[in-house]
Amino acid sequence: MSKNKSSESVKVVVRCRPLNRREESNGPAGSIVKMDIRLGQVILRNPRATASEPQKTFTFDAVYDANSKQRDLYDESVRPLIDSVLAGFNGTIFAYGQTGTGKTYTMMGAWMDPEKRGVIPNAFDHIFTHISRAQSDRQYLVRASYLEIYLEEVRDLLDPNHGNARALELRENPDSGVYVSDLTSCVCKSIKEIEEVMNVGNQARAVGATDMNEHSSRSHALFLITVECSQPGPDGRKHIRVGRLNLVDLAGSERQAKTGVQGERLKEAAKINLSLSALGNVISALADGRSSHVPYRDSKLTRLLQDSLGGNAKTVMVATLGPSPQHYDETLTTLRYANRAKNIQNQPRVNEDPKDALLREFQMEIARLRAQLHHRKWRSKQKKEQVDGEDWEGDGDEETDGEEEKAVEEYVKLEEQRLEREKQDIREDQFMLADEKQRLLGEKERMMGDLRKEQEATEQLTAKYKAMESKLLVGGKNIMDHTNEQQKMLEMKRHEIAEQSSSEREIQQQMLVQDEETVELRETFTSLQQEVEAKTKKLKKYLKLYAKLQCIKAEIQDVNDEHVRSRQELEQTQNELTRELKFKYLIIENFIPPEEKNKIMSRLNFDTEEDQWKFQPLVPAESKSLQMKKRPASAVGYKRPISQYARVAIAMGPHSRYRAENIMFLELDMTPPNTASLDRSTDSEPNQSPSLDGSPTKEGGVRKSRSWCQTPKSITSSSSNVSLAACHTATPMTAQ
Ligand code: ADP
Ligand code: MG
Repeated sequence: MSKNKSSESVKVVVRCRPLNRREESNGPAGSIVKMDIRLGQVILRNPRATASEPQKTFTFDAVYDANSKQRDLYDESVRPLIDSVLAGFNGTIFAYGQTGTGKTYTMMGAWMDPEKRGVIPNAFDHIFTHISRAQSDRQYLVRASYLEIYLEEVRDLLDPNHGNARALELRENPDSGVYVSDLTSCVCKSIKEIEEVMNVGNQARAVGATDMNEHSSRSHALFLITVECSQPGPDGRKHIRVGRLNLVDLAGSERQAKTGVQGERLKEAAKINLSLSALGNVISALADGRSSHVPYRDSKLTRLLQDSLGGNAKTVMVATLGPSPQHYDETLTTLRYANRAKNIQNQPRVNEDPKDALLREFQMEIARLRAQLHHRKWRSKQKKEQVDGEDWEGDGDEETDGEEEKAVEEYVKLEEQRLEREKQDIREDQFMLADEKQRLLGEKERMMGDLRKEQEATEQLTAKYKAMESKLLVGGKNIMDHTNEQQKMLEMKRHEIAEQSSSEREIQQQMLVQDEETVELRETFTSLQQEVEAKTKKLKKYLKLYAKLQCIKAEIQDVNDEHVRSRQELEQTQNELTRELKFKYLIIENFIPPEEKNKIMSRLNFDTEEDQWKFQPLVPAESKSLQMKKRPASAVGYKRPISQYARVAIAMGPHSRYRAENIMFLELDMTPPNTASLDRSTDSEPNQSPSLDGSPTKEGGVRKSRSWCQTPKSITSSSSNVSLAACHTATPMTAQ
């Protein structure tokens, strides 16, 4: 599984862009960044410093000044990494720096101008040129994905409804590390296709830029290319190597304090910058070497770059600087981070025969389709030869696909002709009965239909097979127009020159270190003159050491200042958040009943995978249907359960038997008493109760104002229909 398990450090290169027109017009202060390309050093001048203060010097793997060409950076610093990816390593290139310092320019550049094409388009060229020149026993599968991280959410830029799509989740797999689940991945067969993928993604990003203020500078974009290569190993079996390339264009790294935002905006900025500060913390923790905990989980970006920083990958960091004196602090911070990143050790290894290689699946599917197709053709051929009366055995395997196809076509044609002939014979046969003729003709028709269906199925299978096969790129095939020998030689020479200059730089750097360390001190002096010389040398050495000490002191002071600054920022954010928290507590304490609060608390649990609190469902999904309470039979058609008695009362209408029961809604009838009828009743039957029979002349002292029961809307249940009907007929009898 693993090869070449040695560790290597992250390669850090620095690039400084030219002064822009606005900066030039600001005054003659000029650039604060000087570069020694030969030594790979950046010398930074503090515009506010006194003349005696030493300048700060940083050494990197390579530096590129304002006059540097895109091609130089690619050939010297990126080409070896892409070669490693093509050999099956994981590779990452990320641009880091303040907004407007040329991250996007370095990564993407200007597409149309070959001189200004950035790392990404040059990498496309490189990958497909390599495939076109590879040996023909190699098969390649190239896939591309494009995503962005905006406001701590991972979004698929190739998803057609990117704007409304839900945020994607990150998952971890012991084989391939951290990955984004459900991310769109497009198989690309040529430079044109992969460029198309890039354009589609860029457009999705551009839409965001117009909708949201400063979107583009606040989202991190990751273009992922997976190159799978299958080649026969010494054991005769095909082995697959998978190289994954991450091309990352980060958002600007300016500090929150610089943006001068407060309150809500500050919190938003804190969230936006979360990824970058988390990246800084990860770099510090890894470079330090002493921290046992590396906070990868603090942000989506650091989780995605987990393998690239301290894991299984080769990584190049391009730190971009602006030369303007205005941005001295940011430039210094960028240089510090870049300087720290040099110490990160990665353990890259070749990904050989991983379980999730798509190429293997493709190869198996192609082999299956091929076998199916072969079988069909063989069957057709066999039939043809039976028709022709030839012996078909023995010469099957040697025929090419083209010959096979021709044989099948011929067979189909012959069969059609034969069936047509037979149909004609049947029609012309005068001794046959009409029914029999019809039957035989129908049969022949059916046979012809079967033949056509068979042919269509074979054609479909062939198309599927060809489509599948075309996705795999075979080494050495001319997928590019300009792959001539001269160009190949030119590229090799360029590669050699780049390698030479980088080794020259390494030697120069080593010599510089040795120079400082090996100042020879002779202890024996033959003359006063010699003694003076030796002591002067010694003095010079001490002076040098003293200067170095001053530098380091200044450095310590700077680092302290920076820590104080970032602590102040953190404190400010913390104060904001505490205030917010107190506010929320106040609302919870005063407006949410404690039992409700407890219910909510008991349902909450923390999802470590997604790094957020989540509600547990009230009822577990599987037992939901079982636990669903059934509507009581007494409530069918009503808003609420209702007693049998009340239902009968509704059914009976204004029957006198139920009138007095409804005491809640009875109102006194305040009409004055009729003295005449009172007199009469006292005369005849003094004990007779009035108004029980419901006759209109004997209206009682109370009257029903309205029914408290709602009228049933519609009674769907058949059982309640029956019971109601039964009540309707039964009640009058019992009442009488
Ligand atoms: P970032 O992505 O870091 O915010 P950009 O890449 O958008 O910055 O660069 C800002 C501007 O500076 C662009 O107009 C770009 O063309 C220009 N620029 C950056 N780097 C260079 C360079 N090395 N040479 C020429 N122009 C550059
Ligand atoms: Mg940018």
